[in-house]
Amino acid sequence: MMDNALILIIEDEPEIAEIIETYFVREGFRTITASDGPTGLSHHSRLKPDLMILDVKLPGQDGFEVLAAVRRRGDTPVIMVTALAEDLDKLQALRIGADDYVVKPFNPQEVVARAKAVLRRTTRRGTFQPIRIGPLTVDMEAHTATLEGAKGATVLELTRTEFRLLAHMAASPNRVFERSELVDACLPESDALDRTVDSHVSNLRRKLSAVGAGRLLTGVRGVGYKMSATHE
Ligand code: CA
Repeated sequence: MMDNALILIIEDEPEIAEIIETYFVREGFRTITASDGPTGLSHHSRLKPDLMILDVKLPGQDGFEVLAAVRRRGDTPVIMVTALAEDLDKLQALRIGADDYVVKPFNPQEVVARAKAVLRRTTRRGTFQPIRIGPLTVDMEAHTATLEGAKGATVLELTRTEFRLLAHMAASPNRVFERSELVDACLPESDALDRTVDSHVSNLRRKLSAVGAGRLLTGVRGVGYKMSATHE
């Protein structure tokens, strides 16, 4: 299972970005979009996406420059989107570290299929190692959140949105997430409001509290929420 993976789409043509996003969301992925390189790179550092769909022709900084910047930071899988044969030549010649590429016009279903294939490969690189935070283990592959307690392990019964919120915050312990960020990353299929996040988080916290782990998830007044193993 990889359907909670966060896909960052960097594409300056809104219609194309929307089509790609729609197909990923339909398959249960989380998505975030950016229409230029600097915004995309900022999302990349804040949200640590599992995979990027990166257009070559972007205003200002082009896709190759964005890719180079991403590669300096780590090995986030990248699928390049190109319209031109010369870009393909460049991709092949430079071998600058894209994991795959698709050519416009493309079938969005194929983009999702390629992304799944890349994610399967990179899973073996360890992208989907279970996240541990205090007594809690979040396994993105198995789609489970398990709490170790005195009486053994308890698997939490979470809704899809609750699991997404938990996994998203647990991946960056101690980082405070604003509600709007959580809406973007975890509730992409709806026009959710901040208070919708509050309600999901409150249900999630109730479930954690029921197994004695309510302290893992805390609200930060006026800002948002965070997960941490230690509490102040
Ligand atoms: Ca473009």
